[in-house]
Amino acid sequence: RNFMFSRAMVLLWLSIIAFTQAHSHPSSAFLVPKEIAPKFNHDPQTLSLASTDYGHIVHETPEAVFEPSSVNDIMALINFSNSLPIPLTIAARGQAHSNLGQAMTTRGGVVLNMTQLNGYRNGCGIIVSDCDGKKEGPLGCYADVGGEQLWVDVLHASLQHGLTPLSWTDYLYLTIGGTLSNAGISGQTFRFGPQISNVLELDVVTGKGELVTCSAEKNSEAFYAVLGGLGQFGVITRARIPLRPAPTRVKWVHLLYNNFTAFSRDQEHLISFNERNETNAADYVEGILLLNQPPLDLSFYPAFDQPRITSLVTQHGIIYIIELVKYYHNNSKAAVDQEVANLVNGLMFVPTFKFEKDVSYEEFLNRVHAEEEVLRSKGLWEVPHPWLNIFVPRSRISDFNEGVFKGIILKQNIIAGLCIVYPVNRNKWDDRMSAVTPDEDVFYGVSLLHAATGFDEVKTFQTQNQQILQFCKDNGIKITEYLTGNKTHQEWVQHFGPKWKLFQDRKTQFDPKRILSPGQGIFQ
Ligand code: FAD
Repeated sequence: RNFMFSRAMVLLWLSIIAFTQAHSHPSSAFLVPKEIAPKFNHDPQTLSLASTDYGHIVHETPEAVFEPSSVNDIMALINFSNSLPIPLTIAARGQAHSNLGQAMTTRGGVVLNMTQLNGYRNGCGIIVSDCDGKKEGPLGCYADVGGEQLWVDVLHASLQHGLTPLSWTDYLYLTIGGTLSNAGISGQTFRFGPQISNVLELDVVTGKGELVTCSAEKNSEAFYAVLGGLGQFGVITRARIPLRPAPTRVKWVHLLYNNFTAFSRDQEHLISFNERNETNAADYVEGILLLNQPPLDLSFYPAFDQPRITSLVTQHGIIYIIELVKYYHNNSKAAVDQEVANLVNGLMFVPTFKFEKDVSYEEFLNRVHAEEEVLRSKGLWEVPHPWLNIFVPRSRISDFNEGVFKGIILKQNIIAGLCIVYPVNRNKWDDRMSAVTPDEDVFYGVSLLHAATGFDEVKTFQTQNQQILQFCKDNGIKITEYLTGNKTHQEWVQHFGPKWKLFQDRKTQFDPKRILSPGQGIFQ
């Protein structure tokens, strides 16, 4: 009966919107505020675009896509929803680079198209501060950035001032609101923390429709709730991101290992930098698995080295690559060579299997976009992506290698896409935030970034992902899933563990009618 009633209410308000749009009738304004009525888009193509995401696995058509032209519109939408006997669910949508419908709404709900704000901000979505005051941020510089903005645009805007954010994701065509709702991790995380640890202040429209400016000092409950909060507590409309002087170039090094113990020990050595001696530390540390599964992507390496790398992979079946980066300025080339030599000294990679590139800072940060263009040209970007992203505690990473990398992936010889594995320091995360991690000082981010060509392959990868999760469960490896979805209520409770009660209380406080980000499937 509830469902029927809910459908009836939705149909009622949709017809009111349609009527308002057609006639601008003032008498219906008490239901749908007339200033937002024209912002509900029902065009089938728009609805169809909002019914899918990068994962191409979950599909849910919304009743409407809301196209805000201001933060006030977002407040009005949420207030309107709260005023209904059965509120509408509202899913903020950044770039929809989620994998499992996290930026979609449930049936009868509305997708809030954040990118629409771009037009409204009229090119002012990113404002880089005048650093002279030296009041905020490590060196007094920051950018005020709209929640709908892309990280790549933040990079470009700050580089124009010789500045840069510190913490990144591997791919930059993601929105500020989207990554701050998760964590935002990459090879810089061990040193600067995830992106959620690199925010000075936020503007958030809560699920109650209130606009709150928050920080660690001011309205801190909202600040910590929203960071890593999976969109559950509010819509991020502005983030203040600290900036530092930008390097111009990077030394980008690959070290190849045939032994996981040496690989992970060296990775952990590289991330155990001493804060007092920061200049000698690496700026980025990640790891990649190279499986004997042709065609190998060896584009990083010189053509004449590729045959010997191929035979190393054939010989061992699996090769582990440390990806290490040191930033520098044009005028300090000699110094950086010595710094890289110091970092690499004593590491136990396969002798002579060290490769190096020298590229601009921007080219390095935007490296995945180059791959995106290649994949798009082959029609391999807009395909299903049954990804698995997990955090594995350091104490069990060796068991994980034996049971998963060797025991499942190598044995089945199934890895279409990329497998990334790198450690991060937990002390760079703030436990007051909503994001959850394993309870160890160091844990590894492991990403199996599958791309499937058809339904059968989706099933194959999903089965493998399930086997990996089951292996961890059976062997007591306390992993935490990242960017996860499609969970039952009980699984979400387990996911948050000791933080579940806090997460639930925050929902009651900031979104009591459970309106926001229903696609995460946590509270519906
Ligand atoms: P969406 O998918 O649009 O939204 C994600 C969630 O956030 C949804 O629940 C949505 O409702 C909510 N949301 C969106 N905007 C807002 C807002 N303004 N306020 C509140 N809630 C909001 N992640 C990493 O950490 N590191 C990586 O290196 C990395 N690499 C990636 C590479 C690729 C190719 C892809 C496709 C994804 C990658 N991701 C990575 C994952 C990515 O960070 C998340 O999927 C992120 O959510 C994408 O941002 P988005 O703007 O597309 O968010």
